[in-house]
Amino acid sequence: MAKSWYGRELQIGVLGGGQLGRMLIQAANSLDIQLHMLDPDPNAPCAHIAYSFESGSLTDYQTVLNFGKNKDLLTVEIENVNTDALRELEKQGVEVYPQPHILELIRDKGLQKQFYLDHQIPTAPFVFYNPGDTIPYDFPYVHKLRTGGYDGKGVQIIKNEAQLVSSFNEPSIIEECVPFEKELSVIVARNKNGQIKSFGLVECEFNPEANLVEFLFSPADVNPNIEKKAKQIASDLIEKLEMVGLLAVELFLTNDGELLVNEIAPRPHNSGHHTIEIARCSQFEQHLRAILNLPLGETQFHSAGAMLNLIGEKGYEGPVLYQGLETILNIPGVHPHLYGKSHTKPFRKMGHVTISADHMDEVRKKAELVKANIKVISKN
Ligand code: ADP
Repeated sequence: MAKSWYGRELQIGVLGGGQLGRMLIQAANSLDIQLHMLDPDPNAPCAHIAYSFESGSLTDYQTVLNFGKNKDLLTVEIENVNTDALRELEKQGVEVYPQPHILELIRDKGLQKQFYLDHQIPTAPFVFYNPGDTIPYDFPYVHKLRTGGYDGKGVQIIKNEAQLVSSFNEPSIIEECVPFEKELSVIVARNKNGQIKSFGLVECEFNPEANLVEFLFSPADVNPNIEKKAKQIASDLIEKLEMVGLLAVELFLTNDGELLVNEIAPRPHNSGHHTIEIARCSQFEQHLRAILNLPLGETQFHSAGAMLNLIGEKGYEGPVLYQGLETILNIPGVHPHLYGKSHTKPFRKMGHVTISADHMDEVRKKAELVKANIKVISKN
């Protein structure tokens, strides 16, 4: 008889045990799904709450192979994992979602951009670049490392000759700089049966210093046609990738009203955290439904929402203290999520706060209040 997901028969492994894994466990608990996690950090956010937790390298072939070989299904909460081991595990009958070739495509910004070009997905013009090549664009242009960058760390906007000196010396892509009005994100899911559903459009506001999303608002303040178009692009993309799981699609809305895909992530995403409070089914539950080939959940929002990342304050390093937590807990519709990281350091993502209300005006007011009152500092 086939194994059932709700009978605790399926052994499900997750590569990565960070905050995304932590929220995945919370969703899994409601469906009585047991998750086995692997992460290099023995004190990772999932270490003490996973059904089982192993500490080990996600990029080491043998470690991933050993972790996966007694599992029925594997998923990830981070792209940088050993895909050779995942391919071997697939051969041995383990299901892997997102599929290994998708992880390989997405972790290389060059292959990702080439895929958009080959499949008529709108994106900013670009060229591949190796040190010494001539650059066909005028200043400013964007220089991106093909692999290894995250949270803006592999991205440089080159504005003049002087900045060339410190530019990356590794295989990269060079992109035209897009004059954009907004940065948007859509999260879409697809199961093995081919059912596809997207959450509402999200608008991201960045902290310019940390280059991390600081605030996120949803629904985004855009014309309904833009929302429709963005969802269409996201569902085209997941279908063309033939991907199973959850895909976050980051887009630019240009000053001319055009939508361009910036990059994608094949897993639950920072820009979908608010779905825990404001959608009928959260992105984490949706990811589980998609990889288990279950009917996808309802994605409608029942209120307006915002998300504020709790980022380690500059100048503080050590045991964490969430200053002002009790103050913000007094505000209705405010829900903190602390990731269980014992130590803070400047710009480290330590948690997030979701703010919900009937109308966006109210959400924005409360979001400013939350931001003014909470600080992630250290005890000493
Ligand atoms: P990461 O993968 O590290 O998050 P991104 O490719 O998302 O890097 O780039 C980080 C940020 O840099 C984007 O959120 C955006 O603000 C800016 N950026 C990236 N590409 C462009 C571009 N072509 N034009 C203008 N700004 C860009």
